[in-house]
Amino acid sequence: MEFEPVIGLEVHAQLKSNTKIFCGCSTAFGAPPNTHVCPVCLGMPGMLPVLNRKVVEYALKMALATGCVVSKKSRFARKNYFYPDLPKGYQISQYELPIAEHGAVEIDLDGKRKRIGLTRIHMEEDAGKLIHDPNRPVSFVDFNRTGVPLIEIVSEPDIRSPEEAGAYLRKLRSILRYLGISDGNMEEGSFRCDANVSIRAQGTEPFGIRTELKNLNSFKHVENALAYEIRRQQAVAAEGGRVVQETRLWDPERSRTVSMRGKEEAHDYRYFPDPDLLPLMIEDEWIESVQKTLPELPDEKKGRFETVYGLPAYDAGVLTASKELADFFEACVSAGAGAKSASNWIMGPLLGLLHAAATPVEESPVSADHLAELIGLIENDTISGKIAKTVFDEMAASSKAPAVIVEEKGLVQVTDAGAIEAAVDAVLARCPDEVEAYKGGKTKLLGFFVGQVMKETRGKANPKLANEVLKAKLK
Ligand code: ADP
Ligand code: MG
Ligand code: ZN
Repeated sequence: MEFEPVIGLEVHAQLKSNTKIFCGCSTAFGAPPNTHVCPVCLGMPGMLPVLNRKVVEYALKMALATGCVVSKKSRFARKNYFYPDLPKGYQISQYELPIAEHGAVEIDLDGKRKRIGLTRIHMEEDAGKLIHDPNRPVSFVDFNRTGVPLIEIVSEPDIRSPEEAGAYLRKLRSILRYLGISDGNMEEGSFRCDANVSIRAQGTEPFGIRTELKNLNSFKHVENALAYEIRRQQAVAAEGGRVVQETRLWDPERSRTVSMRGKEEAHDYRYFPDPDLLPLMIEDEWIESVQKTLPELPDEKKGRFETVYGLPAYDAGVLTASKELADFFEACVSAGAGAKSASNWIMGPLLGLLHAAATPVEESPVSADHLAELIGLIENDTISGKIAKTVFDEMAASSKAPAVIVEEKGLVQVTDAGAIEAAVDAVLARCPDEVEAYKGGKTKLLGFFVGQVMKETRGKANPKLANEVLKAKLK
């Protein structure tokens, strides 16, 4: 029997507000433990939470950017459970009335566009952080993170493969970053994902029993854990067994998932409306004013890059994955580079350079102006495409302007017919066997001769001229 995976993701994104969701404590990362705390986020008796308006605004931005229906009235609830990182003994979260529902994001995979539904987006507070002493049977707790604002984004079970899950997460992160409301950094925990997965016989309607995967700290972990879990569930089904509903932890060391808790041990959170917080009423004017602040989002920008610059969909997708990269591309084009040349140079050498050095594009050693200038030097035949790579490497190392490098290193392309002829003559004299073979019909050797001429001129011969001279002399 053929099985089909069914996947739904729950994502927690930390919002970039300066202060916590229900008190004025700072959300800055990296402070000494328990220095960003107050009676409210420590859950002292008698404390009263006050909702941070900025957090609601950020949640609204995400809701509107993903086409959600915003609830005129939403509510905060208490999610009760006992754990040392939760000083109040409950987490304030939205439950039966979230701020937004029924949205969607589009993903592009293998040239196809697919819509992934969003069930809901809600606001909640983060818990503290436990630090376990590896040498003593002691744990510490840091409450700086309690009350840091999160939004949870729950997808419909519309995802059908680990690759789609990866594409969905990248798109969500991209939208959050375009909006400037979250760092979206998975490794640092400001973007976290739990993955729900089940399998069903291909072509059937009802969903299978799902497992929920936790401890997924990178995009790769999400994809690998899902791939493993799908295989595991298929093996269980193939042996005539039943998948049991449970929470499983991804073990990246052993590349497998292990059972953490079953349905019986699942928490009963005893949710109830938080009596300390009024229902949240959102008026149309607020929604409209937030709508007006939305920037051009990844999908729109991608569409514009295709129509305005005539770029292939693939290029447009890569360049608009981050706003900063898209800005770099547009700066390069407005400095005079052709769109497709700029795209090729950015997607190839530039991204290669940035990835290798783990440098964000905003700090690129090669500026957009310099890259445009380099492209100009190729287009006006000052340097060959091959030499341009050498110049680019030098630009990366020194941040110098390409014209300066070309000048300093004497890399100007040889377009002087006499000089090229001399080089061709030298090559032909050196390779009598190949000349004979060529004249005997092995015309494929032309490429070999061009290569030799390039060598002879240390890459500086204009390849088009070299071709012409060679063809003429080999007649
Ligand atoms: P919970 O709050 O217990 O985690 P939810 O109903 O909120 O449960 O669902 C959480 C996630 O699980 C959602 O993203 C949803 O799409 C997904 N999901 C629900 N049923 C299935 C299923 N049978 N297989 C895969 N994913 C599922
Ligand atoms: Mg869940
Ligand atoms: Zn506080």
